[in-house]
Amino acid sequence: MAATADIIIIGAGISGLAAGCYAQMNGYRSQIFELHNLPGGLCTAWYRQGYVFDGCIHYIFGSGPGQPFYSLWEELGAVQTLEFVNHREFMQIRGPSGETLQVHCNPDQLAQHLKDISPPDARLIEAFCQGVRTFKGFDLSLLQQKPKALMTLGDWARVGRQMLPFVRSLGQWGPVSLREWAAQFQHPFLRAAIPHLFAWPDVPVMVGMSLLAYLDNQNAGFPLGASLKFAQAIEQRYLDLGGEIYYSAQVERVLVEGDRAVGVRLYNNQEYRARRVISACDGRRTIFDLLRGQYVNPRIHRLYDGHLPMHSQLQISLGVNRDFAAEPHWVTHLLDRPVLIAGEDRYEIGVKHYCFDPSLAPPGKSVVIVMLTTTYSYWQQIYGRREYHAEEIQEADILIDRLEQFYPGLKADIEYRDVATPLSYERYTGNWQGASCGWLLTKDTLPLMIQGIPKRLPGLGNFYMVGQWTEPGGSVPIVAMSGRNMIQEICHEDHKKFVAITG
Ligand SMILES: Cc1cc2nc3c(=O)[nH]c(=O)nc-3n(C[C@H](O)[C@H](O)[C@H](O)COP(=O)(O)OP(=O)(O)OC[C@H]3O[C@@H](n4cnc5c(N)ncnc54)[C@H](O)[C@@H]3O)c2cc1C
Repeated sequence: MAATADIIIIGAGISGLAAGCYAQMNGYRSQIFELHNLPGGLCTAWYRQGYVFDGCIHYIFGSGPGQPFYSLWEELGAVQTLEFVNHREFMQIRGPSGETLQVHCNPDQLAQHLKDISPPDARLIEAFCQGVRTFKGFDLSLLQQKPKALMTLGDWARVGRQMLPFVRSLGQWGPVSLREWAAQFQHPFLRAAIPHLFAWPDVPVMVGMSLLAYLDNQNAGFPLGASLKFAQAIEQRYLDLGGEIYYSAQVERVLVEGDRAVGVRLYNNQEYRARRVISACDGRRTIFDLLRGQYVNPRIHRLYDGHLPMHSQLQISLGVNRDFAAEPHWVTHLLDRPVLIAGEDRYEIGVKHYCFDPSLAPPGKSVVIVMLTTTYSYWQQIYGRREYHAEEIQEADILIDRLEQFYPGLKADIEYRDVATPLSYERYTGNWQGASCGWLLTKDTLPLMIQGIPKRLPGLGNFYMVGQWTEPGGSVPIVAMSGRNMIQEICHEDHKKFVAITG
C-alpha cells in the first residue's frame, strides 16, 4: 500500500487541478487520480489528422489582466503562458429569409443594430443594453472570493455594499428567461432569434447580459491552442508545485473507516490512503456509486432525482479543406422547416469555425463545429449497439446536407468528421448524462447557484466535494474557485492561514 497523502483528489478536471494546486501551495501533499489519460475533464480538445477539435471553451472569464477572475488564473499559471482571442461580435443569427442579427458585444453598437432592425422595440432594446452596460462593472467573482461557510457578518456586509449598485438589475433580469424576454418583441425575426442569443433559451437574461459585458471588457477570451492547452497549463502548475497525478486511474470506491473517509480504491484494486478525500468528479457517481449512497439525506436525494435541468450536447466536428476565415466565426441558422435530429425537430443549427486560432488547422483549412442540444436518453437507449454508430453517421449526414444550403460545396471539402454525443462526454468524464455544466443555469436554478450546494455529506468526515455539481451552472472559473475555496476551508479546519501564490 502507498504512503498516506494529506489529500487525495478524485478527478483532474479544472476543479480537481485547482484544488491540487492550492493544496500544494498550502503545504499539503496531494495526489490526483484521474480516469482518463489527460487532464482537463470537460475542458478538453482532441487531435485528429492535423485538426484540433475544441470541446469546451467558447469564452473564459478572467482572461483580461486586472479584471475579475484574472488573479485566479495567475495563481493557477494559466494566463502567463497563453494568449487569448477576444471577439467584438459574439455571434450572428441568420433567419430563413436572409435576415441577420449581429450580436455585437458592445452595448451601444448592439442597441443601434437592434433598433435599426425594429424601431418599435426600442424600449426593450435600450433596457437590455443598459443592463449590459451596468454589468460591465459587476464582479461575478464576488460571491466566490471566500467560501460561504467562512463568510463573517463583516464579509457579507462588504459583499452587500459591492453588490448594491447592481441589486436593481439583478432583481429585474435574474427572474426573466431569454425565452420570456424574446416573447415581448414585436418584430417576428427578433422574437425568433433572441432565444438563441446565448447557449440556451431558458438562461436568465442577466446571465447573457453579464456575458456580453465581460466580452466587451475583453475579459472573456478564447485561449489560443484550445481548451486542452489551458488545462495542461494548470496541470503543469500543479506538477511544478510538487503535486502527483495518476492517469488511467479510475476510483471505484471511497474508503471509509468509522465515520471518516480514509482513501480510495481504484478499479485495479490498488488502495491509496489519505487524511482527507476531495471528490472533484461527477456528484451523482460520487454519492451513489463511490460511496454506495450511504451518506445522503432527503435534500441530496431531491437534488439527484432528475427534476433539475441539465444540458447534453451533440457536437459534430469537421476538418474542412477550405478557408472559412472570411465567414463570421459563429452563426446560428434559424430554419424554416425543421430538421429531425436524434428524435427531435430542430429549428436552429449553430455553426462555429475556429480560423481565429491558426494553430487548430493546417494552413488554408478550417475546423468547423456544429452544436446542438440533444436528449441523453435517445443515445443511451442504443449505446453499445451497432445502431449507435449508424445513428452518429446518419445525424452527421443530415446536418451536413443541411449545411450545404448555407455553405455550398462544403460536403466535398470535408476531410475528417467526428461526432461526440452525450455518451462520449459521459464516457470520457463520467458526468451524469454527459452534462456540460452540471445543472443548467435557469431562472429556477439561479437561487441554488447563489446559495451553493453543500460540499460535505451527512455523517461522513474528512470528505469534501468540489466542481460543477456543487456549483450549479458550472463553468471553468467557477469550478476553479470551488477547488480554491475548499482548500481555504481545509486550512481553516487546520487553523492555518490560507496562502495563494502567483505562478
Ligand atoms: C461543450 C461545452 C462547452 C462549454 N463551454 C464553456 C465555456 O465557454 N466557458 C466556461 O467557463 N465553461 C464552459 N463549459 C463548462 C465547463 O467546461 C465545466 O463546467 C467545467 O470544466 C467542469 O469542471 P469540473 O472539474 O467540475 O468537472 P469535470 O471537467 O467533469 O472533471 C471531472 C474529472 O473527474 C474525472 N473522473 C470522473 N470520475 C472519476 C473516477 N471515478 N475516478 C477518477 N477520475 C474520475 C473525469 O475524467 C474528469 O477529468 C463547457 C462545457 C462543455 C461540455
